[in-house]
Amino acid sequence: ADSRLVEAINLSVQEASLTGESQPVEKDTVALDSADLPLADLPLGDRRNMVYMGTAVTYGRGTAVVAETGMQTELGRIAELIQSVDSDQTPLQKRMDEVGKVLLVGAVIVMIIAFVVGLLSGDPLDIVLLNAVAIAVAVVPEGLPAVVTIALALGAQRMLRRNALIRRLPAVETLGSVTTICSDKTGTLTENKMRVQVVDVAGHNTDMQTLIEHRLIDVINANGSAHNYDKAHALLMAGNMLCNDAVIEEDPNNSDRFVSIGDPTEGALVVAATRYGLNKEHMDAIFNRVGEVPFSSERKRMTTAHLLQNQVMMASPEDSYIMRVLGANTHHYIAISKGAADSLLDVCTHAWIEGEITELDDALRGRIEKANNDMAQNGLRVLGTAYRHMDVLPENWKHETVEHDMIFIGMVGIIDPPRPEVKAAVAICRAAGIRPVMITGDHPLTALNIAKQLDIAQEGDRVITGQELNRMSMEDLEAVVELVPVFARVSPEHKLNIVQALQNKGHIAAMTGDGVNDAPALKRSDIGVAMGITGTAVSKEAADMVIVDDNFTTIVSAVEEGRTIYDNVRRFIKYLLASNTGELIVLLLTQLIGGMSLPLTTLQILWMNLITDGIPALALGVEQAEPGSMKRAPYAPNESMFGRGLGRHILLVGAVLGASGLALGYWAWSNNIEAANGALAWNTMVFMFLTLAQMGHALALRSHRESLFTIGLRGNRLLIGAVILTVILQLMAIYLPFFNNLFQTNPLTLGQLAICLVLSTIVFWAVELEKLLIRRGILS
Ligand code: ATP
Repeated sequence: ADSRLVEAINLSVQEASLTGESQPVEKDTVALDSADLPLADLPLGDRRNMVYMGTAVTYGRGTAVVAETGMQTELGRIAELIQSVDSDQTPLQKRMDEVGKVLLVGAVIVMIIAFVVGLLSGDPLDIVLLNAVAIAVAVVPEGLPAVVTIALALGAQRMLRRNALIRRLPAVETLGSVTTICSDKTGTLTENKMRVQVVDVAGHNTDMQTLIEHRLIDVINANGSAHNYDKAHALLMAGNMLCNDAVIEEDPNNSDRFVSIGDPTEGALVVAATRYGLNKEHMDAIFNRVGEVPFSSERKRMTTAHLLQNQVMMASPEDSYIMRVLGANTHHYIAISKGAADSLLDVCTHAWIEGEITELDDALRGRIEKANNDMAQNGLRVLGTAYRHMDVLPENWKHETVEHDMIFIGMVGIIDPPRPEVKAAVAICRAAGIRPVMITGDHPLTALNIAKQLDIAQEGDRVITGQELNRMSMEDLEAVVELVPVFARVSPEHKLNIVQALQNKGHIAAMTGDGVNDAPALKRSDIGVAMGITGTAVSKEAADMVIVDDNFTTIVSAVEEGRTIYDNVRRFIKYLLASNTGELIVLLLTQLIGGMSLPLTTLQILWMNLITDGIPALALGVEQAEPGSMKRAPYAPNESMFGRGLGRHILLVGAVLGASGLALGYWAWSNNIEAANGALAWNTMVFMFLTLAQMGHALALRSHRESLFTIGLRGNRLLIGAVILTVILQLMAIYLPFFNNLFQTNPLTLGQLAICLVLSTIVFWAVELEKLLIRRGILS
């Protein structure tokens, strides 16, 4: 919707999709002055109190009232005007173009040959022309475009069932070629169910459970005998609750538990403070927020400022205690920052130690850093908290004007366990020749710990941080990018460098992302993967695929589907082109044998193409994953469609089908074999043989590698149905008098039918032999 802002705090919006202006525009709520221009003529970019559909908030927050929806919005108007054209050719389209060209040239050559051969055999010109066209029709697999589209669409649907929503159809098969998956940590590799586990103030480490049992009210009732740590804990908990945008609710199923809405990290902090004994609603009401610098993944911290001298009646004992601890009777405002402890220390000059504000010297910094590292090493996400009293508010709310001279209070360690299913998915990736890489904003030690738990990294593996990346040239990065499994403390723009380095080294990289700033990396990567739950609209817009459940395992499933789909496309191309080549050989060569004519009538050729190229090809397009498809290295994305044995298959199988059809036809013709009705049987026998042989071919192609006797017939009911239906239709074409007239066929005797059937299996055996040689490593 397009909306009118009623609240805007540091709100910037990127409106490039509407105005073409790439710089974000700052928004406010001030009414627009229409003295010079009628409001309707005011350029979109100048309407600063409006936010528009299809644009992205890059910074800050706000509240707006919906003014227009759907086609009435500015974007809707554009949508009405523009018909977007997608001109970029996808890899599959390129490959299919190649196939198309080969077919076109093939069909023209074949037509010319058929024409010349027809003339040589002395047929009248009109018959020769008709036959040439019919033969060309036999070469061209008319069903191919439809089968490709249906196979891709069905594949995308199967992916959706496995929680991967494909936004661009070509991504379906690029997925099969992925060599590296770069994944975010939080929520994708981990559960994103965060819980504060330890609290560290002034070198004093406390289990969160102890703090919960040792509630604030008990501290207050201890009447002054409370230890200074207690004050530090109260300060830390209050700070974390105030500098926080999560909303907390009681779990409707369990009154002892709380659920939070919003950022899970923040939720964990609010839940911890609530269980400790604070009340977010009270705190927000007493200590009004008067300003803020929102969290950014570049700074890795956020700051809010609060009014301290707010006269509130009926405050609880806890509230009064917190007012005292926060210095409400001596100061006007307090600024509270929270964020990655290392980044927070950059803006701290003092620390709150044992009730005293102590200068943050190297020894103290070292102590805090060590505590931070110790927690991170155990896989905890560490967040520090700091504050600063202020008597006047800065005019300009920027991080430079607020985040300085802060007093460090302490840290919390938040546990976010790895998703249990990811370890198996990582193992599948490795077997499939795909390297998983963790890219996270978190601390290097936290990241490494989780990566090790998931087998993404091993003992001794190198972790590269964002700071190191800043110092590295592209060549430096290229030199190590294939060896490093974990990138930590990275900002979204680093992701772009990592993708680029991987691509320069010839990798096909999938990259996940959720934030607005991740969009360039998602666009740049070969497969941009956006998060369905936590992802911003912008990241989804930039992505090729959205994973509905934010789960790494889903990406791996999608890769598997991608490989299956490409295998299936190759499967039916093998089937269609080899069969058509075989038909062609029979049709062309019979005419060359003295006295023999074209074995099939034009109608017969069309009928055979209709029943053999349609449903059986489609059924091959929905074949399940090839056994072992995730146990081999990915194929090169630029390989030719005819590569890796496909061209050979077409020629070999085509030759076997053609030669045996020809032999059968010649034998029946030269021996004047008669059908059940006394007419010559050879044409009908060739007609029957070619159809049956293609069915054997389809069955053998259930796998590119494994024998049908290993994988069996089950697993593709559509194919079995298609084969049975095709055979029934073909029998009807031979035995029903109506079709006898239409197609000029003759009913075969049982013996002749048996000969056709037995001989037709030759194609099946040929493909089985080819697969045996592939399994033995003799053929590729
Ligand atoms: P990824 O999802 O890529 O694994 P991440 O979500 O851990 O990364 P960021 O969200 O950029 O990465 O967080 C980086 C660091 O910023 C965290 O390690 C944490 O210390 C700090 N941080 C995260 N969320 C907040 C927040 N709401 N307020 C303050 N600091 C935060």
